[in-house]
Amino acid sequence: MLDLVIEGATVIDGTGAAGARTDVGVRDEAIAVVGDLSKERAGSRLNASGRVLAPGFIDMHSHSDWRLWGNRRAESKIRQGVTTEVVGNCGFSPAPVSAEFLDELRAFALYQPKGMDFSWRSVGDWLAAFDRDGTALNVVQLVGHGTLRIAAMGFARRPPSAAELATMQRLMADAMNAGAWGLSTGLIYAPGSWATTEEIVAVAQAAGRYRGFYASHIRGEGATLLAAVAEAIRVGREGGLPVQISHVKAAGRPNWGKVAEALALIDAARAEGLDVMGDVYPYTASSTTLRTILPDWALEGGVAAMVARLDDPDARARLRREMETPTPGAGVLDRVGFENIMISWCAKRKDAEGKRVTEIAAARGLDPIDAVFELLRDEGGSAYMILFQLDEADLRRALVHPWIMIGSDGSSLAPYGELGAGKPHPRSYGTFPRVLGEYAREQRLLPLAQAIHKMTGLPARRLGLTDRGHVRPGARADLVVLDPKQVADRATYEDPHRYPVGIEHVLVNGRFVIKHGEHTGSLPGRVLRPF
Ligand code: ZN
Repeated sequence: MLDLVIEGATVIDGTGAAGARTDVGVRDEAIAVVGDLSKERAGSRLNASGRVLAPGFIDMHSHSDWRLWGNRRAESKIRQGVTTEVVGNCGFSPAPVSAEFLDELRAFALYQPKGMDFSWRSVGDWLAAFDRDGTALNVVQLVGHGTLRIAAMGFARRPPSAAELATMQRLMADAMNAGAWGLSTGLIYAPGSWATTEEIVAVAQAAGRYRGFYASHIRGEGATLLAAVAEAIRVGREGGLPVQISHVKAAGRPNWGKVAEALALIDAARAEGLDVMGDVYPYTASSTTLRTILPDWALEGGVAAMVARLDDPDARARLRREMETPTPGAGVLDRVGFENIMISWCAKRKDAEGKRVTEIAAARGLDPIDAVFELLRDEGGSAYMILFQLDEADLRRALVHPWIMIGSDGSSLAPYGELGAGKPHPRSYGTFPRVLGEYAREQRLLPLAQAIHKMTGLPARRLGLTDRGHVRPGARADLVVLDPKQVADRATYEDPHRYPVGIEHVLVNGRFVIKHGEHTGSLPGRVLRPF
């Protein structure tokens, strides 16, 4: 006897193959059988004719480890059909934590939801603490190099000593044993930006030994894009582990078109036998912390030291000089003007949210650099921005590349409570439906089954997940039922906290989290462990 039969949907199984009309039977947490189930007995039946049934989507690039702690329902992701999120990206993870540098890590945190108190130390402790209260979707944790480096040596702007490097390697190995899936870097963010390639390779080797992979927000996404891709590939070669190039893009109009060359580097590495892939989100704006505008030396000693520098006339003059004549490839001001930078979130000066830096500056009678200094100081160094700096043609190239999968670079948000604040990048609400609706259906850029493959079978292959990412007997019942004629994103830059349409049912581990478009409150997700 089956628990559930989903009848008559066009099943797109995640392999990239076109769909076929059939039934899917679920028992406990797994898909028990696929085929004609019209005569099978089942606890309940769901008629899904005219709908597509697909494996639950895997968000290959997420930052929800800073958000789910405060709201386990994963609203903005589960409503897109996401059933697994890969978190700990861009060098940021909530563990490991050293008592000595706890304050530095708190300041480095992307967000700190209420109650997220860093009482854990190891990655194992963190995962256990997180798992205790349940979550709507499954979580795959990466370990951030920035977090590792802070645990070993704080915000020191120098190479690690032999002992500090050994500490980072030991913490990485411990994390792999405790259930982490690999190492991430954010090489534009201090302290990651202070690490040499050799340091990254040494830590990556510790992950590679345990079959982890390397996900990198590479050292440059503008003028130095190609050198940065080459560096990531070198880490894979010398570290002995697969490489995931995070959120592939070429930032800034002078660099538009370079995504083709970046993809060619990935192809060449694969031809050499290296396992290199990447991910992309379907938008032409990026988003990150506002302090990324500053030269990275401003972060030496940590965020509090950075804020103090904004009040020091000498440091301020030097910052201004370097921001007015930026070195190509350093920071973001070499490629994007203040009119294309929008403040998306800040804790105190809520009037700044949704406004361009040029508007904020004009309203306060300041020049844009002073307006940024003032805002960063008022916010204690913590604010976010959206940068309108990417090329649609580059995006389309990445979306159709066979080794590029979908990753939102967003988080599980919600239009209520603390997660409903500000005007965050719409990718947190719209990424997956936007690929399916705008790019697959409306623009016909790629077939629906290929788009779904990039959200399911391909990321499962990257992760080595054998029991998710496909619709087949024995696989875990992470499933999405969607209306292929309706599915679409609704979130915009002006009005981002909007759920998509056309995602009707979502099951995680065999249980409905979304049923008839509504959240059931069920929390069947869990922390996934590799192998
Ligand atoms: Zn990133």
